[in-house]
Amino acid sequence: MEITKNKVVLLTYDLSIKGPDEEEFELVEAIGEDEPMGYIHGMSGYPERFEDNLEGLKPGDTFDFSISPDEGYGQRDPEAVVDLPLDVFRVNGEIDQELIQVGNVLPMTNDEGQQMNGRIVEVSNDAVWMDFNHPLAEMLLHFTGKILDVREATPTELSHGHVHGNGGVHH
Ligand SMILES: [Zn+2]
Repeated sequence: MEITKNKVVLLTYDLSIKGPDEEEFELVEAIGEDEPMGYIHGMSGYPERFEDNLEGLKPGDTFDFSISPDEGYGQRDPEAVVDLPLDVFRVNGEIDQELIQVGNVLPMTNDEGQQMNGRIVEVSNDAVWMDFNHPLAEMLLHFTGKILDVREATPTELSHGHVHGNGGVHH
């Protein structure tokens, strides 16, 4: 069976990324056959270009492709780096020093009530600088891997938008 819209795809992949100022790719994710990834073609949540590259492949086929930042997670937005008053992070008058560390990713809520992950990039005496850009923004993405299985999605999987069982959600 070929990969087309609404098929469940089970695959392995290695993802390597390279920033605009970097010379070499860095491996950031390795999904092997012992714990493959499953997604519904057309609903993966990955960039459209990712699914385009897998379209038509069959079990046993391998892939090797790159996705530019513009086809991937976009460019970095300098305005998505903001400073928040340290007081925002006070719980019962206390600052959790373990939590407020450069590099930590925290779920934050914006003015419209949307949840967004922010990565702490700097901490001063009265402010915390957070970067809300997607961690893969401005990165060139390189995927290699193998298609393990392609099958029809069940009606429940289609209504949930994710795969059940192997490579997916167990519930
Ligand atoms: Zn479900």
